[in-house]
Amino acid sequence: MTHKVFLIFTFFLISCATTPITGTKKFIITSPAEENDLGEKAYKDILKHEKVNNRSELAEQVKIIGQRLARVAGRSDFEWEFNVFESSQINAFCLPGGKVGFYSGMAKVANTPARVAAVLAHEIAHAMARHGGQRMSAQIGQELLMGILTVTAFGELPKGKRQLVLAALGVGTTVAFILPYSRSNESEADEIGLVLMANAGFDPREAVVLWQRMEEITGSSGPGFLSTHPTNRQRQERLNELMPSALQIYQKHKL
Ligand SMILES: [Zn+2]
Repeated sequence: MTHKVFLIFTFFLISCATTPITGTKKFIITSPAEENDLGEKAYKDILKHEKVNNRSELAEQVKIIGQRLARVAGRSDFEWEFNVFESSQINAFCLPGGKVGFYSGMAKVANTPARVAAVLAHEIAHAMARHGGQRMSAQIGQELLMGILTVTAFGELPKGKRQLVLAALGVGTTVAFILPYSRSNESEADEIGLVLMANAGFDPREAVVLWQRMEEITGSSGPGFLSTHPTNRQRQERLNELMPSALQIYQKHKL
């Protein structure tokens, strides 16, 4: 009996991860290395389905801005890569392990460097906070965890699990269904993203503008970024609450 309790206790110790910047604790069964590995596999899978555009001005901009954010993200275990995908989708993602996708349709909303930075910082924040691992641990359950073990062992995304894995990692619209982030995941990504962009020398106030534009431009038109990222007045209010301390960081780092 004691032995069993000890095992369970150890399990919880191993499984409680602390989030950078916000300091919140969360229950995650997968290890960062497993998540990164899964991110790599998901990325290879995405590359088979999406058209990479690396020759445009936008692609150049996304890479430069992305690397600036990567330098202050504090994830030396990530092998960063920033790609633009040719698509009218208003969407973006960052997989565990640092592979970032920015759909060219997003440039309609993120139409300045600081707004591109706000999108990337928010997505990178989801990965820094390990929301993918958290979602795989909490929402998708035992069946997928068995899937993860198979993935880790055999190198390919498991058949029939591709959609689940990609959706859990925040790649919504390239798969058939969308898994929205929870409200607490969202506000955490907002908070971390704001600090991240300020640390990289981008004006954090542009994050608020980005969400306003997102609402104006996309409205409620079909699946996309807004389906996985609920936008609302509360989000903008919360960002404004965090703004004074983000602006202090920005003053130290602005170019
Ligand atoms: Zn989000």
